[in-house]
Amino acid sequence: MQCDKCGFEMKFTTDLETGELVSCYDCGQEYEVTKEKPLALDLAPMEECDWGQ
Ligand SMILES: [Zn+2]
Repeated sequence: MQCDKCGFEMKFTTDLETGELVSCYDCGQEYEVTKEKPLALDLAPMEECDWGQ
């Protein structure tokens, strides 16, 4: 899997579960696992702007 943000090639040595959050080792962008086999990642929603409501 390649990071959408920085292009870093992400390799996962452990099994990931649907709904699990992973982050890019290089830029820290978070991804949510949407599918396990084959592995599919989606950009995790950013929560920093939702605070204070
Ligand atoms: Zn990245």
